[in-house]
Amino acid sequence: ATEPTNATTKAPGVKKKIAVMTSGGDAPGMNAAVRAVARYAIHRGCDAFAVYEGYEGLVQGGDMIRQLAWGDVRGWLAEGGTLIGTARCMSFRERAGRLRAAKNLISAGIDSLIVCGGDGSLTGADLFRSDWPGLVQELEDTKAITVEQANLYRHLTIVGLVGSIDNDMSSTDVTIGAFSSLHRICEAVDSISSTAISHSRAFVVEVMGRHCGWLAVLAALATGADFVFVPERPAQVGKWQEEMCNALSAFRKEGKRKSIIIVAEGAIDSELNHITAEDIKKLLSERVHLDTRVTTLGHVQRGGVPCAYDRMLATLQGVDAVDAVLASTPETPSPMIAINGNKINRKPLMEAVKLTHKVADAIEKKDFAAAMELRDPEFADYLHTWEGTTFIQDEKNFLAPEERMRVAIVHVGAPAGGMNSATRAAVRYCLNRGHTPLAIDNGFSGFLRHDSIHELSWIDVDEWCIRGGSEIGTNRDTPDLDMGHCAYKFQQHKIDGLIIVGGFEAFTALSQLEHARVNYPSFRIPMATIPATISNNVPGTEFSLGCDTCLNSVMEYCDTIKQSASASRRRVFVCEVQGGKSGYVATVGGLITGASAIYTPEDGITLDMLRADIDHLKQTFAMEAGRNRAGQLILRNECASKVYTTDVIGDIISEEAKHRFSARTAIPGHVQQGGNPTPMDRARAARLAMRTIRFFEECRANKLGSDSSSAAVIGIRGTGVSFTPVAEVESNETEIEQRRPKNAWWRGMHELVNILAGKTFSA
Ligand code: ATP
Repeated sequence: ATEPTNATTKAPGVKKKIAVMTSGGDAPGMNAAVRAVARYAIHRGCDAFAVYEGYEGLVQGGDMIRQLAWGDVRGWLAEGGTLIGTARCMSFRERAGRLRAAKNLISAGIDSLIVCGGDGSLTGADLFRSDWPGLVQELEDTKAITVEQANLYRHLTIVGLVGSIDNDMSSTDVTIGAFSSLHRICEAVDSISSTAISHSRAFVVEVMGRHCGWLAVLAALATGADFVFVPERPAQVGKWQEEMCNALSAFRKEGKRKSIIIVAEGAIDSELNHITAEDIKKLLSERVHLDTRVTTLGHVQRGGVPCAYDRMLATLQGVDAVDAVLASTPETPSPMIAINGNKINRKPLMEAVKLTHKVADAIEKKDFAAAMELRDPEFADYLHTWEGTTFIQDEKNFLAPEERMRVAIVHVGAPAGGMNSATRAAVRYCLNRGHTPLAIDNGFSGFLRHDSIHELSWIDVDEWCIRGGSEIGTNRDTPDLDMGHCAYKFQQHKIDGLIIVGGFEAFTALSQLEHARVNYPSFRIPMATIPATISNNVPGTEFSLGCDTCLNSVMEYCDTIKQSASASRRRVFVCEVQGGKSGYVATVGGLITGASAIYTPEDGITLDMLRADIDHLKQTFAMEAGRNRAGQLILRNECASKVYTTDVIGDIISEEAKHRFSARTAIPGHVQQGGNPTPMDRARAARLAMRTIRFFEECRANKLGSDSSSAAVIGIRGTGVSFTPVAEVESNETEIEQRRPKNAWWRGMHELVNILAGKTFSA
């Protein structure tokens, strides 16, 4: 058998030779990007090369530039750091170094370079491109290359991928590595929290970010930290000390036993004085008399396996980088592959670099508003959410008494990561506005049968942001259990607003209540569903809470079984994942674990598919004989087919394999609901919950209680938070029978899973 070279969409003209390199600080996900570039380049009929050790390898040439075969990048999705190495290279900053680099590329026949790194690396790449014609001319004049070579390589294509844990690049919402780094930080802070509570201590945790507070803000929001210091929004000189001490003392008075302060390494005050972790420690020890410790997380933040989001981002962007190479002309400026509002985009590379430098300049000029403006659109929102759900407001800042509401929160459906975080944020923000937050225990049946409803205080919910499951209890019952009784309960408890956190049943519950408004005036109040389900099947949003936690759990599970499969060299695991009639978990799970096939309810399973997949497995095992990492994985959604069950597929594969390899089944089951929610789910949950309360306030101010717009599904669409009337979502965006959204945005990834698995067959 031969290695896959299925140039189904082969680029016209001369075969492109595309090199990929990683440069600057390493970031989790870089290997996933290299894998995607290499495989997709081969798929498009190009040759793929790796430049080892960043620009150092480019300058040195020789063995530092090597062709990548399909199998060379097997297993790279799950690897942290960068396997092709990175370095800081001084000689590339000089023209002489770049001249050598040009010679080396031309000698290897390479005409396109994809660079994954931070702003420095991308600046270097663009400079290289603008120097290129002059470099080629000089090489020709000095006879270092032939005239034919010079004529063939007059143009160099450069494409940038942003790999950086700080998330400090402008023009893109997220950089490769940032969320993995956030995972490491939150794991560390969660661990610190338990010891802090035990000893009633304060911890000052320093995180990375010289000019960028993204990691610090997101970590503060996700871990429920008490104070945060970032460069873009500096603490007021001469005032922050008192502000911080007062806030922490107030929290302690509420009964808090731990204090966590997150400091970005570039934290400053409004006069640009550096604020250090030691400064803060001294203050807390002396003024608040807290036993305070400093933890500097350092390089731990760079380490470990890439999280699910980084694997997906790096894969999608790596693929687009190859497409960008093939679409490039000598006239087009070098593109940088970005993500904006959940869409992969191409942005002019040098403009992005310039904007990035503007942030540092703005901070230097004390124009902090401009610095905030230059950050991604969600950054300010996350910072406001942290503020709005952390500090305790004075009563004088409450809304007027007639504007205050009694807001009930209920969880419906299976537990999903972020349910508690959403509840915590809703409770905290309610209290800060003068509203009364009420928890309905154990879903609608708890409410209707046992009248389980109670007020929640600031301290009650303090630890909830990091907890999985549902603290107030959840079940699948909907209000149509007894609509009349439900209306009576709403009246009895004077409920003015209702948040339903949950999956498709939560959506259904909202729809039922909205329909019942005709008969029951007590439902003519603002109501909202915050989608929370691992299946990501709630219409009206691109992401539900819990789906990121689920993907990470599935990913860890699959990484483990894949390792076990690779130990035997000849094993296929058929892994059954949840998701109901939505193939989201199977599809994205397949993309991030490098599955060789996925089966979804949307596409079903046919004999032809199975035959093609088994043929492909036979080819793969024949090709991989004796090599490492030969374990294969198939992800099958639980509802993909009634006939071809997970066991049946396992048996068919074993039978057909004729002892050349074997198949086993694996069902992660409830593990998929995850332990602690991921930072992404925690942060999203808090943001959505706070926005929901504001939405309720607007509805009430505009007397929209009986209007259909006041019963809304709160969604994440692009970078924005959307409020779509449930009636509209139901009629325009829902496949009711199938319990899933129409036109789900992730469907196109199925084909990519097949391509990256090396199959010509596509579902
Ligand atoms: P990080 O975000 O981790 O700092 P970075 O890509 O910004 O990543 P740098 O150390 O700034 O990291 O750059 C990496 C390499 O890129 C440098 O060692 C150098 O080889 C090259 N480079 C950076 N800036 C330039 C430049 N202006 N001209 C030429 N090469 C450059």
